[in-house]
Amino acid sequence: MTRAAPGRRSRDYWRAAERVLVGGVDSPVRSFRAVGGSPVFFASGRGAYLTDVDGRRYLDLVGSWGVNVLGHAPPSVVAAVARAARRGLTFGAPVPDEHRLASEIRRAAPSLERLRFVSSGTEAVMSAVRVARGFTGRAKVVKFAGGYHGHSDGLLARAGSGVATHALPDSAGVPPSVAAETVVVPYNDADALASQFERAGDAIAAVVVEPIAANIGVVPPRPGFLAEVSRLARQHGALVIADEVITGFRLRKGTVHESLGLSADLITLGKIMGGGLPIGAYGGRREVMETVAPLGPVYQAGTLSGHPLAMAAGLATLARLSPATYRSLDRIGASLEAMLRDAAEAARVAPFTVQRAGSMLGTFFASGPVVDETTARRSDRSRYARFFHAALDRGVYLPPSPLETAFASAAIRPADLARARTALFAAMRAARGGRR
Ligand SMILES: *Cc1c(COP(=O)(O)O)cnc(C)c1O
Repeated sequence: MTRAAPGRRSRDYWRAAERVLVGGVDSPVRSFRAVGGSPVFFASGRGAYLTDVDGRRYLDLVGSWGVNVLGHAPPSVVAAVARAARRGLTFGAPVPDEHRLASEIRRAAPSLERLRFVSSGTEAVMSAVRVARGFTGRAKVVKFAGGYHGHSDGLLARAGSGVATHALPDSAGVPPSVAAETVVVPYNDADALASQFERAGDAIAAVVVEPIAANIGVVPPRPGFLAEVSRLARQHGALVIADEVITGFRLRKGTVHESLGLSADLITLGKIMGGGLPIGAYGGRREVMETVAPLGPVYQAGTLSGHPLAMAAGLATLARLSPATYRSLDRIGASLEAMLRDAAEAARVAPFTVQRAGSMLGTFFASGPVVDETTARRSDRSRYARFFHAALDRGVYLPPSPLETAFASAAIRPADLARARTALFAAMRAARGGRR
């Protein structure tokens, strides 16, 4: 069934929001600017589905940008948050769930020998960079083009996610002196990294990298690339920061950098491990982390850090994640990948490329393989916009940007996939022509 989305109530709320919130939103990619039209407002979510304020249901393939790996409002997580809320909302003092969640994380991801909770992924990476600078006494940070590491000043250069979506080369408001401390290298290009190390090796504090780039669609590392990143960093006395804010707990219960050949000194986490509440964490080698206050000279703090509700939600979420969860996520991802390919073939949409890592899918209306930001940007944006809107009208919620990743949840059942198939085949036909 086709129903033009957004509905009347969403459009009314949008007008009201635009009068008080800048651009109508609290985070730019939510604004639908990359696909046109105005956003859908949601009233609730349960399992694999979202319900909008006009009462329409959508199979959710965004999952709050990767957070909701178990689907919406898993009952055990909601119950844990409610129990924690009844005990008190915040104390600004230690609560036992902080070290309990930290222990669970370390059990799943032993490279976080010591860790600290913060309230967002941005804060986690910003703090890890400060630690790397404090530990090495150096100033420069290397990042890869299209890598998104949150919106702290120094890491906005050539960033993925909304920065890429809105075609901002960098952000205004970042002083040149700050930007000058960031060196940007193409993803998957070890030679370019090597020449930066040749040029400025003794000034580089850290290389920050997404083990699988997931903020320009899904771009896996080439074989050997990540091992070369760690080798070059070690050779030049720089640290490696594995930004696993998306990949952590998405592809397995824990982190993925080790199995991809990256040896990291610091690791950042966020999204999934907060169970849907605001969270971030950074951690790593004990010797490096012990430079953080109160043990060392690197200052970092937070009124709401280790928030009791986020700790409770995180513990309840991790308790639900098992090898079976990840097998099922991988099967769902594989079905969606095949479905998208078949739909493109049936509709004779070319070029079209899907790149998948487990339950994360990058769809590019471009020829593959997509290996870096440059090749990702070749994706036909207007085709994606047509595809997005046609899917939305048929009850499938995709990321409202051609450069964002789609995320499946473990709540998706075979019947949901069958329904998605019809919608996605029709959407692909719409992507080819000018029709919806
Ligand atoms: C989402 C994301 C961040 C930023 O996390 P926020 O919680 O949005 O601040 C950092 N790094 C990566 C890889 C991300 O995907």
